[in-house]
Amino acid sequence: MILDKKMKLPLAYYGNPILRKKCSQIEKIHEEIRQLVKDMTDTLIEHNGLGLAAPQVHRDLRLFITAVPIEQPDGKWLAGQLRVFINPTIVSVSEEINSRSEGCLSIPSLYLEVIRPERVTVRATDLEGTIFEEEFSGLEARCILHENDHINGVLFIDRIPKKARKDIELKLKEIKEKYRG
Ligand code: ZN
Repeated sequence: MILDKKMKLPLAYYGNPILRKKCSQIEKIHEEIRQLVKDMTDTLIEHNGLGLAAPQVHRDLRLFITAVPIEQPDGKWLAGQLRVFINPTIVSVSEEINSRSEGCLSIPSLYLEVIRPERVTVRATDLEGTIFEEEFSGLEARCILHENDHINGVLFIDRIPKKARKDIELKLKEIKEKYRG
């Protein structure tokens, strides 16, 4: 009997060098990649996250997933659909920006206002190996930009003003100590 066992992958936390690495291109979408995406999806759901990048589960790969809930006209939120981005490139971002509170599964309990473009156009490969180009906006655009930063070794704490960064140094140190592998 084969059980479809849910697999939760261990997260890499702030201080882990994998989070500062510019990740490697995926040459071929083989079974291992498909399994990784499945495990990452289970991990994302377990942690109630909006997105997860491969280095956050200790993998040096240009891959991330998102599942961003959609706000309905009546104010209710609909569960987000899973999206897979392999070897993504940011084609363009809007001049229009906005500021919103952001968190990261790799830096638990830290939420900061981050300014990002309102819209982003991404080109990437999906799990079937098909290249797609699509524009995203709002929370989904923010999530994609956050995850895309991860595969370039950039964290959301790098996207805040110097003064704000200084204010959280102690908190970051505490997080580093607490989650040290
Ligand atoms: Zn993150």
